[in-house]
Amino acid sequence: MRKLDPTRALVLFSGGQDSSISLAWALSRYAHVETIGFHYGQRHAAELGARLTVRKEIAKAFPNWAGKLGDDAIVSAVGLKDLGESAMTHETAIVMGEDGLPTTFVPGRNLVFLSLAGGLAYRRNLGALVAGMCETDYSGYPDCREPALDAQLEALRLGMDSDFALETPLMHIDKADSWRLAEKLGGEKLVALINEHSHTCYRGERGARHDWGYGCGECPACDLRAKGWTAYRAGGASA
Ligand code: ZN
Repeated sequence: MRKLDPTRALVLFSGGQDSSISLAWALSRYAHVETIGFHYGQRHAAELGARLTVRKEIAKAFPNWAGKLGDDAIVSAVGLKDLGESAMTHETAIVMGEDGLPTTFVPGRNLVFLSLAGGLAYRRNLGALVAGMCETDYSGYPDCREPALDAQLEALRLGMDSDFALETPLMHIDKADSWRLAEKLGGEKLVALINEHSHTCYRGERGARHDWGYGCGECPACDLRAKGWTAYRAGGASA
């Protein structure tokens, strides 16, 4: 099995709250960190814009991390849009679907993302894949759960004959605790930076500024983010 450099990491970075905290986590831990994002025909460009801003602001605010922050790649995964409708890629309402999952679920999306990330990591000798998946999310996307990720890591290792590691620092913590992790990593400065510049809203709205960041304030992603922020500020757990 090919040895990859365990001090070099690739963060699956969407520009959302979770992946921004995961990026900071990786920068606090690895010698060299690159980022990958995916264009898959998502309805809103706000997330992709947010990722560049978050990278830039982190590098500006944390000089120790700036030197470790390497290249960024945007990879096309637009085939996902051709497979059928979801509320992420089409003007479909965000509701609970017949399959028991929200209509924001894009079947296969995270599996494709991890495969593409593995391919880039292989080429660039990045031994650790870092992703912000979280089992405590309301949405319960099956491809964000630990058994699916464990199985995929094994498939990547076998399929590329390379000793990848996969780190998911937010897997077992709720949104309030993920803010506490950000505070531990980079203090109030990092918390404020991620709150201001990361993007979560499913509707892509950045008009209204709430205490928890920008967003429509009504979609499930905004709701989760608002609850997590409130619980973090109150010193409790997310509902
Ligand atoms: Zn929203």
